[in-house]
Amino acid sequence: MHSPYNRGMTHDPSSAHIGTKVVHTGQRPDPSTGAVMPPISLATTYEQESPGVHKGLEYTRTHNPTRFALERMVAGLENSPLTEDDDLTGGGFAFASGLAAMATCLELMDAGSRIVAMDDIYGGSNRMLRRVRQRTQGLDVEFCDLSSLDRFAQAMTPVTKMVWVETPTNPTLKVADLSGISAIARKANPEAILVCDNTFATPINQTPLDHGFDIVLHSTTKYMGGHSDSLGGVLIASKPEHAETLRFLQNSLGAVMSPFEAYMTLRGIKTLDVRMARHNASAVEIARFLASHSQVERVVFPGLESHPHHEVVQKQMRGPGGMITFYLAGGLEESRRFLESLEIFALAESLGGVESLVEHPAIMTHASVPPEMRRELGISDNMIRLSVGVEDVRDLLADIEKGMAAAKGARAAAAASA
Ligand SMILES: *Cc1c(COP(=O)(O)O)cnc(C)c1O
Repeated sequence: MHSPYNRGMTHDPSSAHIGTKVVHTGQRPDPSTGAVMPPISLATTYEQESPGVHKGLEYTRTHNPTRFALERMVAGLENSPLTEDDDLTGGGFAFASGLAAMATCLELMDAGSRIVAMDDIYGGSNRMLRRVRQRTQGLDVEFCDLSSLDRFAQAMTPVTKMVWVETPTNPTLKVADLSGISAIARKANPEAILVCDNTFATPINQTPLDHGFDIVLHSTTKYMGGHSDSLGGVLIASKPEHAETLRFLQNSLGAVMSPFEAYMTLRGIKTLDVRMARHNASAVEIARFLASHSQVERVVFPGLESHPHHEVVQKQMRGPGGMITFYLAGGLEESRRFLESLEIFALAESLGGVESLVEHPAIMTHASVPPEMRRELGISDNMIRLSVGVEDVRDLLADIEKGMAAAKGARAAAAASA
């Protein structure tokens, strides 16, 4: 496909450091104006000189230059080995949401295929597998704690066609050993497609294709976009045959990202390295503070040595990320007081934006997970999840301390009325 928009990179940043890649990968000045950011190309159709003779662009669902710019970027950031000779955008595909990306990825499976999935994947991903695709696609999904390679080795069989991993998971921040999983999976079935939802880690902290995975998924709504103002998802393929099928599926199903969202996401990614450095550093400080706090039962954070998979974290991640889960001493009432009294941390679903967020998984993000599964996973009434933003960490610590004081008040009030 020869078009001024998708050929002729002026320089190849693939060997550069990631802080350079987030700014330049797949980008080239607009050929007609020299503009350093791609225009938001809203046209839905492109004029042809003669039937079938055109500049490589026909119809926006299939070809959109703004979306292509983002798709080349994410393919480069996740280290896809594909070039633009293998695939139009080097293996990157953008969708209307993270779940639209997942829905398209699952279409790589024939009806009735067997899949092994991490047990505490994102609530919406869990719902799609259990409540939609088991019924409509007959997918035979086995949920398994993939942070245990022994358990995975039992679940993985020669007929397993796909492995769906999320690491770190949400909200229990379990970490799966990506190299270990790919070694076990390849032995049982070399054809199985290994997918990693890398939304929490981002390519700054972890690149699953480097550990033998085939496909990476992101909800760009979170860290990639980074400003809580755009909804989107991407898939990155590393094998030509997967890229070819995904290109067909992206166009056939049509759940593509709009040019405006592609622009917003690309704009967000330019600061991904800078933002993640701050998210990583502030989260370490807050996790340590919580771990030493008398009103905290337990902190789960990949960057703490107390994390059950800390060794895997050190082997596979370049930073711990900005997500912290902790268990507040007390129950629902203490949690409610804590959540209501925070001022900087906004009580809201979602994560990964510049602003700090706090949420209650049992009532909010994970309400769609069946209660017995929530219990098994430890999603209890005193579990709280933080998405640490890029504000000054001193103000974030003071805000948490204020929440703790309010939670203590709830305890005293309950004791007095008992
Ligand atoms: C939010 C999220 C999704 C779903 O993405 P949407 O953009 O909301 O559709 C998938 N996986 C993870 C880990 C997420 O956090």
